[in-house]
Amino acid sequence: MHELSIAQSLLDIIVDESNKHGLERINKVRLRIGELAAVVPESLTFCFDLVSRDTVASGAVIEIEKIAVTARCDKCDLSFEVKDRVFECPKCGEPVLEMLGGRELDVVSIEGETGENDG
Ligand SMILES: [Zn+2]
Repeated sequence: MHELSIAQSLLDIIVDESNKHGLERINKVRLRIGELAAVVPESLTFCFDLVSRDTVASGAVIEIEKIAVTARCDKCDLSFEVKDRVFECPKCGEPVLEMLGGRELDVVSIEGETGENDG
């Protein structure tokens, strides 16, 4: 299960960041995931729930923004969005091998609480 290892590395990043910023609780994590990364959002959320148990990120909401796959044609230099995994230039029909984006798996932002407001 590919999502489990992703969830684990995400948790590592989040724990690291929360230590850096003194966060005691993570409320929300925003991710950007390219369609080529082949991540099923539901499954990633599920795995994250499992691995984040008893950590600072327990119960955090995961928001996933899907990034379309984009490519560039070598022949006519057109940049376009790849739909339905058809890696072919819509203008000249050349098969396209150069991907510009779609493999992203980034943590966009982490929202949490420092615990300083607890009174
Ligand atoms: Zn082309």
